[in-house]
Amino acid sequence: KAGARPASSFVCDKAYVNGEWVAAKNGKTFDVVNPASGKVIGNVPDMDANDVQNAVEQAFRAFQTWKETTAKERSVYLKKWAELCWQNQEELAKLLTTEMGKPFAESKGELAYGTTFLDIFSEEARRVYGEMIPTTAHSRRLLVLKQPIGVAGLITPWNFPNAMITRKAGAAIAAGCTVVLKPAEDTPYSALALAKLAEEAGLPKGVLNVVTSSRTNAPEVGKVLCKSPLVSAISFTGSTAVGKILNEQAASTIKKCALELGGNAPFIVFDSADIDAAVEGFMGCKFRCSGQTCICANRVFIQDGVYDKFASKLAAKMDGELKMGDGMQQGTTQGPLINQRAVEKVDEHVKDAVSKGATVMRGGNKKGGNFFEPTLLSGVTKDMKCSQEETFGPLAALHRFKTEDEVVTLANSVRSGLAGYFYSRDLGQIWRVAERLEYGIVGVNEGLVSSPEIPFGGWKESGLGREGGKWGIEEFIEIKYVCMGGI
Ligand code: ADP
Repeated sequence: KAGARPASSFVCDKAYVNGEWVAAKNGKTFDVVNPASGKVIGNVPDMDANDVQNAVEQAFRAFQTWKETTAKERSVYLKKWAELCWQNQEELAKLLTTEMGKPFAESKGELAYGTTFLDIFSEEARRVYGEMIPTTAHSRRLLVLKQPIGVAGLITPWNFPNAMITRKAGAAIAAGCTVVLKPAEDTPYSALALAKLAEEAGLPKGVLNVVTSSRTNAPEVGKVLCKSPLVSAISFTGSTAVGKILNEQAASTIKKCALELGGNAPFIVFDSADIDAAVEGFMGCKFRCSGQTCICANRVFIQDGVYDKFASKLAAKMDGELKMGDGMQQGTTQGPLINQRAVEKVDEHVKDAVSKGATVMRGGNKKGGNFFEPTLLSGVTKDMKCSQEETFGPLAALHRFKTEDEVVTLANSVRSGLAGYFYSRDLGQIWRVAERLEYGIVGVNEGLVSSPEIPFGGWKESGLGREGGKWGIEEFIEIKYVCMGGI
């Protein structure tokens, strides 16, 4: 496309602070690895507490002028940034597959999803309306102003290296906040590419800062973001364990926290369901991103009357449609997992389930490097590890159930509450179950429910706050009540 540049030009060995491309003060770097080949792509600065402290100060300084810009000015910057991302969609997708592993088609999809957040927030920037409250006395007027909260500290995961950044940074910048972003150590290049394009879009220096750090330095970087009085909000997407640490640390300065944490999504198929549609919906819901999304189906509950039919149709579809390989190879649907830690977790869940009586219907094995076979287990029960925690890999774990009450209780029995899905053609049941599921996102006869327009977020230990649509921007706004007297 016109204006596009090669993916390799985004492989950059500097972080981005106050409009400058900089090394870590300590001079250290860490390697970024292609998870499909194991080869090093390059290295980036391994920044620590000192570097992030500096970035926070720069972001705080930039905030003093950025907060004075008009909504229209911010909207125009975001629109320009989005345009550059659209122009570079293919190349950014290649870069994303190279550092993260997901199939190229999925990366292109992520770029479309991610860039749409910039589009949406360029529009929402202009709709942060205040309010007037009917007065309680003739001499007074009561108003509500909405103002940017301040510097936002963003920490993002590797499974959506582009979209999790635009979803947060787009909203923060639209609201009039400035940003210090720490991307996941596995996927810093997609973050730095976004910074490069923001710079080209003319975003003033200090508004978006990207601090890269290794896993070793992530805790100290996170601590500065959470504890600094110059940072006013934290937005994090990642594991529940890390979310809890950040929330505790942020309590020290009473920061607003938006947390998108782990799920343990139930996927329920009732006897009345259209089984072909359920199998089709399940394939995308489970195997997209090799099962590495927080809204992927994790516990699959199939009602007694359709269990065998669902299991055999699913097995056939897995045989026919899933192809493991390098994400850049034509036809690949299942890329590698992100790293060895992820492979070990899937392996542990499969072994644990088998030791407790589950049957392997398909797959079940490590395949070398970071690859794990798409796996289908039958006869899974709630005492198995794969039922209690998110597997975050290509494991379909089938449970058999008898009644609606039983399955709703089982679905709600965990501390997670992000996404839940069910298939049914019984209208009464659809209403009952949709209302009873304790989840922030419910898919009814749909396996792919995400889009930039909707409020994305979880109940219980899956998080705080919502991202996307008109809701996302609220996380970066403070409300001010003004009582105007003497009228
Ligand atoms: P995963 O295990 O899938 O990598 P994490 O929640 O550990 O998920 O990682 C998500 C993000 O949180 C990454 O950017 C990672 O570097 C960061 N992170 C991990 N541990 C901490 C921590 N103690 N403090 C701040 N950030 C952290």
